[in-house]
Amino acid sequence: MLNIVLFGPPGAGKGTQSEKMIEKFQLTHISTGDLFRKNIGEKTELGQLAQKYMDEGNLVPDEVVIGMVDERIKECLDAKGFIFDGFPRTVAQAKALDTLLEEKDLSISGMIALEVDEDELRTRILERGKSSGRTDDQSVEKINNRIRVYNEETLPVAQYYKSFDKYTAINGVGTIDGIFGDICTAVEKIS
Ligand code: ADP
Repeated sequence: MLNIVLFGPPGAGKGTQSEKMIEKFQLTHISTGDLFRKNIGEKTELGQLAQKYMDEGNLVPDEVVIGMVDERIKECLDAKGFIFDGFPRTVAQAKALDTLLEEKDLSISGMIALEVDEDELRTRILERGKSSGRTDDQSVEKINNRIRVYNEETLPVAQYYKSFDKYTAINGVGTIDGIFGDICTAVEKIS
């Protein structure tokens, strides 16, 4: 089973590349951001809890995220493989994911990290904010906070996978298809 963590800062193109990967490798997509937005749309308790963190560009508490991912994995145990997008975002989440997968006799095959410089990220997110309706995409302050949180809390997750030799970096600046080609090459090496 191919289980990929697609990693990168906000605006790196994880959502766009996930869509292409799902189609090509028939993976089941687990995007914690999408799951939270669905819960917010449906006005669930989980959504209400997550919203106040998301609105400020802060991380939702680990135990909330991990519980939600566990539920989602259990609903999809017939999957050919998973692509985790926007998760894990802290080392505690990465360790919890390993435990959740181990319980099901599964493991992460590898992390693919999209690298994009900060100026490009700000430009892309503000552009996306014009049509996404996401309030966290529309304010420079919130975007800057998300990038800061990424650098402080999420970047150590890359080191975690590096320590298991499960890390591949890809240049996330270029054409969508060009970047996807590099991802496919990385996936072939992982699988
Ligand atoms: P982006 O990658 O553009 O920041 P996401 O949709 O992945 O967008 O995440 C949006 C927001 O949802 C984050 O800023 C955070 O508040 C929350 N969130 C998503 N995934 C996680 C996670 N794994 N841990 C904590 N918070 C999360």
